[in-house]
Amino acid sequence: MKIFVIPATYNEKDNIEKFITVLEEEVFPRIKDHEMYILVADDYSPDGTGDIIKSLMKKYKNLDMNQGERKGLGAAYLRTMGEAIEKRGADVVIEIDADFQFDPHDIVKFVKKIDEGYDMVIQTRYSGGGSIPENWPLQRKMFSITANLFVRTVFTKFSIHDWTGGFRAIRKEVFLKVRPEMANFGGYIFQIAFLHKAVRDGYKIGEVPLHFSDRKLGSSKIASFSYIMDVLRFVIFTRLKEFERFIKFLIVGGTGFIIQLALQEGSYYTGVASFLAVLLHPLLTVLVHTSDTVAFANGVAAGIGAEGAILFNFTLNNLWTFHDRAHSNIFQTIKRGITFNLTSFGAVIVQFLAIWIGVLAFGPATTIFSFHIPTRDIILVPTIAFIVIPMNYLIYNKIIWKKKK
Ligand code: UDP
Ligand code: MG
Repeated sequence: MKIFVIPATYNEKDNIEKFITVLEEEVFPRIKDHEMYILVADDYSPDGTGDIIKSLMKKYKNLDMNQGERKGLGAAYLRTMGEAIEKRGADVVIEIDADFQFDPHDIVKFVKKIDEGYDMVIQTRYSGGGSIPENWPLQRKMFSITANLFVRTVFTKFSIHDWTGGFRAIRKEVFLKVRPEMANFGGYIFQIAFLHKAVRDGYKIGEVPLHFSDRKLGSSKIASFSYIMDVLRFVIFTRLKEFERFIKFLIVGGTGFIIQLALQEGSYYTGVASFLAVLLHPLLTVLVHTSDTVAFANGVAAGIGAEGAILFNFTLNNLWTFHDRAHSNIFQTIKRGITFNLTSFGAVIVQFLAIWIGVLAFGPATTIFSFHIPTRDIILVPTIAFIVIPMNYLIYNKIIWKKKK
């Protein structure tokens, strides 16, 4: 495989020569099975970093540089990784700071993980023996640890320990898949966002525990404090966005349920149900021999409520929850509405079965704190919460409003 190590530099004149020398003389000789290259991502460092690299390029033929206007670390990596993969045939790119806060010798461990079949390999300072500098002031340690704990918790992805680190190996496929969504993320957000999308897309992520040291030469350009708010905003916003459709679905469903009750009771007490019952009564006498129009009117009221809720749910989900997947053609929309009506019947059957089985098992009423509560009401709540809601959400996503190809 062609592996490109991509150190990012902005004013690293004190570090870059030694850094490249260590890679060329100490690290690359230990990697036997791959072709190793260096492509430095430099944002026209005004301190002359570029000139040092140019003179080293005479000595090392596998060394080159990609310079661009300074738009932040994320932009520099996207630009340079893009060139390595699209113009130079890289199979894997490895991003690393050029200031020796990471030990470049650890690249060997990253390559080994890639060989084991991982799609992306990240550092971890927070597990398996990894560490941050002992001498960091308490508040910096706290920031580093809590920021990562926060991201892990909000994303509920605890198996990944280090979301903000800047030492990673990325396979070409992962980069090409994630890049189109990365345009707006800089700083720490770039690292978090990239990893989040790779995780979301199901890529296999490996971790290498390592020690992060203090900078010895040159100065830090990333101001920790201004990023705290950005990290909070990004992580929370991203998570809410993922739940947005489901939250809308719940709002529509909950409102639909209230509408169902209102239509049922309203049509009964206004006499609309009885009026319809009288109209439909001849039909009834053909089907079953009964003259009980009151019972029949009750049934009609329930039917009006159920169908009203179905129409309401369909219309609102179509206009709001799934508006991005709606048909513009009216006939296709009506066809979809009919399918929706049919699948809605699935929920009726599920509730019917659950309550039937429940009453068979527990009897018609259950005593809780000396209250007699009909078993059907006790069963209805978990049935809706754990079966009907997930089932409907799945049906809406995979059948009714399935993603267009
Ligand atoms: N860097 C860069 N462009 C920037 C900021 C930083 O190329 O706009 C490089 C920098 O030269 C270093 C790495 O990114 O190699 C990490 O930056 P820094 O050490 O300033 O951040 P810190 O380690 O203090 O978070
Ligand atoms: Mg640094």
